Amino acid sequence: MVIIADSSLRQEILELEFDALGVASANPSKTWPAYMQAIANPVPPQLEYLRRNASCRSGFDDIMPGTQSILCCAIELPLFRDDTPCHYARFCAIGDYHQVIREQLSKLDIILRKHFPIKNSRICVDTAPVLERELAVRAGLGTIGFNRMVIHPHFGSFIALGELFIDHDLTIWRNDIEINVCHDIPDSAYVPGSCGCCFESERRCIAACPTGALSQAGYDFNRCIAYWTTQHKGMIPAPIDRAIGNCLWGCDRCQNACPRNTHKQPIRKMPDAHPLHKLTLSEILTLSARQLRKRLSGSCIADAHPYMLQRNACIVIANTHDLAHASLLGNIAETHDCDWVRETAKKMAARMEHP
Ligand code: SF4
Ligand code: SF4
Repeated sequence: MVIIADSSLRQEILELEFDALGVASANPSKTWPAYMQAIANPVPPQLEYLRRNASCRSGFDDIMPGTQSILCCAIELPLFRDDTPCHYARFCAIGDYHQVIREQLSKLDIILRKHFPIKNSRICVDTAPVLERELAVRAGLGTIGFNRMVIHPHFGSFIALGELFIDHDLTIWRNDIEINVCHDIPDSAYVPGSCGCCFESERRCIAACPTGALSQAGYDFNRCIAYWTTQHKGMIPAPIDRAIGNCLWGCDRCQNACPRNTHKQPIRKMPDAHPLHKLTLSEILTLSARQLRKRLSGSCIADAHPYMLQRNACIVIANTHDLAHASLLGNIAETHDCDWVRETAKKMAARMEHP
């Protein structure tokens, strides 16, 4: 069945708030062998999910049988407002991006179903084992940077991605419906480092990485601050804890340093009622886990364990030699319910005295 894309379809898609949208074919993955190699070594329990469904990532039958196309979208991440008291990674600045993107993709699904004979569809925003960076490249949204992020030609790497799997081949529509369809992506675009801006000897993302997680040899999550602060439940070892600096959640240094991200202010603004906007270090460290969960609701940290944020806050206080909050460390070291938060507070209190 062939339906000519009409102007109303075009208009409806344009009215959705995607910053980039493309269609990827449902061909088998090109990067799956490299992925399998990357997870061949043991991983910590928090990353076990990467291995659990590894075979699903080679194709799409386990995600949605009959998948013929994958609509891949990107939305640009805003900057945090200057008066936000703590430092978080940019992906936190849009509220819960999973929710934001899911809502947009649901609308897209409804629109497409009106115009095409789609029977089955599935939305994925970090919720299914797919190699989403490869899909984004395949859909023409960018290339893979040496920092392992998808780099969009206009928005750079500060984007959040989502996918809509459908059982209808949309790749034939090329650019008729304001959806990017690329048929000629070179294999080199899937290889980390195809960003091509920095000379090999002076990759700025490597120079900016404070722990050596990024090096000419590749990426090592065991040294990555983003992994330790947002995934790991337990104490964070030295010297990673010192390298965290003032980052409460995530890191971003390798993205901030990238010349592909320095060209402009983002168009999107942080929502006025953002849960992290007014949240202070004192509140993070004095609220109960239940209260903190409530305050984090609507942010993309909402599902993480609040103890991780409290542990990170203790480290930030010591790293920034924050005397105004130093007294909180003693209290946490004595009374906190969680042993690794207590131990972190104890270690950081000692560090405040003997930096
Ligand atoms: S997120 Fe931070 S620690 Fe991880 S690779 Fe980038 S700069 Fe290095
Ligand atoms: S800093 Fe340079 S090498 Fe690193 S991702 Fe950006 S353009 Fe690529």
